[in-house]
Amino acid sequence: MNEKIEFSAEDFEEDRYARLRLIPWWDQDRLKEASVMVVGAGALGNELIKNLALLGIGKIYIFDMDRIENTNLTRAVLFRRADVGSFKAEVAAQRASQMNPDVYAKGFVANIIDDVGLGFFRRMDVVLGGLDNREARLAINQSCYKVNKPWVDGAIEALNGFARVFVPGHGACYECTMTETDWMLINKRKSCALLTHEQMNEGKIPTTPTSSSIIAGVQVQEMLKLLHSDRNLPTLAGKGYVFNGLTHDSYVVEYQEKPDCMSHDIYESIEEMPWSADKTTLGEILRVIKEDLGENAVLEFDRNIAVSAHCSCGSEKTLLCPVHKLRGEMLLCDRCGGTMQFSSTHMLQGDEGFLSKTPAGIGIPPLHIVCGRAGTTMKYYEFTDDQDLVK
Ligand SMILES: [Zn+2]
Ligand SMILES: [Zn+2]
Repeated sequence: MNEKIEFSAEDFEEDRYARLRLIPWWDQDRLKEASVMVVGAGALGNELIKNLALLGIGKIYIFDMDRIENTNLTRAVLFRRADVGSFKAEVAAQRASQMNPDVYAKGFVANIIDDVGLGFFRRMDVVLGGLDNREARLAINQSCYKVNKPWVDGAIEALNGFARVFVPGHGACYECTMTETDWMLINKRKSCALLTHEQMNEGKIPTTPTSSSIIAGVQVQEMLKLLHSDRNLPTLAGKGYVFNGLTHDSYVVEYQEKPDCMSHDIYESIEEMPWSADKTTLGEILRVIKEDLGENAVLEFDRNIAVSAHCSCGSEKTLLCPVHKLRGEMLLCDRCGGTMQFSSTHMLQGDEGFLSKTPAGIGIPPLHIVCGRAGTTMKYYEFTDDQDLVK
């Protein structure tokens, strides 16, 4: 009797990545092992995530605080009508995993400025920005430099856009490119403590699926070169690719590195500690720091913490949250209705009345890195027990 051998279509198929591997310097295993963070899941973010999923990037972490609206559907390849009302980060992650089962994608409904610990950035290979505001760009830039990670910024407006690459130790960073107007606009936003998240989103920018696909394409190509850093490929480090969609002209600008820029410091010697932001107390952290660096050592944060508020009527209240998260109503006096003044600190010495609190209890995010300082000696400690966040 003849034995019939069954072939499935798969037996004749080339491996999914075969055409990519034809590129001489391509290393698909490296893409499979890569961890990439995408900040913003709007017009640019959708295109970034789509490209990462197609390319088989092993781990994609998506951050966005907003929900999908009807207006997103003209520029968001990953979203459908039925997704309106769901969180962008979560839907985008789900679609990326569906597009390519080799990809692990996770969405986080979190604010990149306050809620993402430095240890998260430390575990990434590249960070991609799909953002529409300066404050978030500055926050990403500062985080990436502290833990020595490259990031690729993108921006679009109508048919135009640009993509920029910032690599610690290789030319200008994002802060170096900032003008006085940029700072003025950031400070204006910071001073508006009464602004709600919705109001902050107001300055809406016209964007198209076409310009976002061009700019996100350039960003992801830069990421590919950064991931193959030993292949000596030219990158846009310290430079920007500028695209004019009316004429289809494009050119590359080189940014001036500012020698006095505040963003260039890289944390040396980060120690992984069995600490968790919502379990270990500030007192315990301070005790270890003093054991390490001496009795005079202090615990420093990279952000100011509002400690308490005082009213001219004599009333007082405890705040214990990052200054950045203060809102107008939090400073209203319960007794007289007046506006209270607040005191803040970025450092703990050991005599504070709230050392039984955890870092999370004063608004320090999970997997963050804090500094122990004695004079000019500094040592960095990571809340490594939170690392399951980055699977
Ligand atoms: Zn700089
Ligand atoms: Zn009062």
